[in-house]
Amino acid sequence: MIKQNKNLSPEQISALKGIPAISAVIEHQAVRALKSHCPDLIILRIARQVIEDKRNAVISGNETAFRIDLENVVAEVVNTANEAVKPRLMRSVNAAGVILHTGLGRAPLPLAAQKAISEAAQRYCLLALDRSSGKRGDRYSHVEDFICDLTNCEAAVVVNNNSAALILALNTLAEGKQTIVSRGELVEIGGSFRLPEVMQRSGTIMVEVGTTNKTHLKDYEKVINPETAVILKVHTSNYRIEGFTQETPVKKLAELSQQNNLILIHDIGSGALIDLRRWGFDYEPTVPEAIRDGADIVTFSGDKLLGGPQCGIIAGKRDMVARIKRNPLMRALRCDKLTLSALAGTLLLFYEPDKLPQTHPIYAMLTEGLTSVSKRAQKIAKLLRSRFGETAEVKIFDTTTEIGSGSLPARGLATRAVSLRVSGIDEEQLVGKLRMGRPPVFTRIENNAVVFDARTIARDEIDLLKEALTAIKL
Ligand SMILES: *Cc1c(COP(=O)(O)O)cnc(C)c1O
Repeated sequence: MIKQNKNLSPEQISALKGIPAISAVIEHQAVRALKSHCPDLIILRIARQVIEDKRNAVISGNETAFRIDLENVVAEVVNTANEAVKPRLMRSVNAAGVILHTGLGRAPLPLAAQKAISEAAQRYCLLALDRSSGKRGDRYSHVEDFICDLTNCEAAVVVNNNSAALILALNTLAEGKQTIVSRGELVEIGGSFRLPEVMQRSGTIMVEVGTTNKTHLKDYEKVINPETAVILKVHTSNYRIEGFTQETPVKKLAELSQQNNLILIHDIGSGALIDLRRWGFDYEPTVPEAIRDGADIVTFSGDKLLGGPQCGIIAGKRDMVARIKRNPLMRALRCDKLTLSALAGTLLLFYEPDKLPQTHPIYAMLTEGLTSVSKRAQKIAKLLRSRFGETAEVKIFDTTTEIGSGSLPARGLATRAVSLRVSGIDEEQLVGKLRMGRPPVFTRIENNAVVFDARTIARDEIDLLKEALTAIKL
């Protein structure tokens, strides 16, 4: 194989010859020691991969790969294998300043939800059994009464995520029929969720009305015909159209749909259960308001402003929720005991909204005052100075935290952050080293500096951050 490639330099050919054989790697004493905790198959796969990567590096002319010997291949295999058997969804520090960071698992769960998961996961649990009759019960009963209390809906069901909730609702209530939607609300969320495509997959026929900036009640009214089944309202949660705009309020759409025997579905996305203006945020529509204003079905995410596990909640009229529960797709989209237990634990906290800043990590981050954030910024700055020494430039500055996941789009949250510049290492490299740290630390770059946002780093994570900083190699 080596000889066939005529373009290789003599150095490359000699480097390729220096790459150890797989058998030599596998039989090395340090690799054999891995067997105590790492399955053979994983060791073998990693050893093959490391060797192949080295070979490719040499062929592509990467000179740092030219000095390969058995010892450095073995070291890499040992590191990679040890990493491979660690818990996969490794705990990470979010210094990036995005509260609902989809890549980092969106909402950090409240303690109550963590305990509920642990209880449900230990052995058998009361998932779908009616204790009084001993018969098969309804798995959604564990959360349905909470959702009804908190939103004033008649019935509710929970599926894998809000995308699934919307597909299921449309498929049940409008398959083969028409669904009217405003052109100003044809959202895309995170690339893979594009409303027109989701609607098409649900089997409904989309009828767009109005324009990007203005949709009037009469625009909806004009297109209603015997084939119309649903009016869909979508909360444009991740962007805002400003200026000369007009959207039709839920109340008006509810009247129109009642007059015409249609169903009003409101995809509210971010799923605020309480009015966030109580903490000084901009107005964000809430689920109870949507129900009160007459939406027949409201769909929302469990892991956005609710701050629970990933799931999608369908809340609304009893007969419609019952039809949704009977849809054969329900089985494919239903969620498991871990999700339901965590959701129940999270929902219970919303009965006492005043306590959310203490009981719920998302609300703790959303409501923490600048003075308190600032204290943590100072601690972080101190850590960075002691880790990176005199040559490093460490500064505390004012910036904004993003809420993330398309919730509360127009406004960042004032925060205090620490910027770090280390001479001799560019910021991209430093961010990469922090990501590969133990635990991984996610930061962001602003003005050519690495930025640590103190708002998303909890008080009890300072030690974790210290650990990560100590462990990274520069
Ligand atoms: C986020 C969002 C979705 C998708 O919800 P997931 O739970 O992420 O699947 C759908 N519609 C709206 C309006 C959203 O904001």
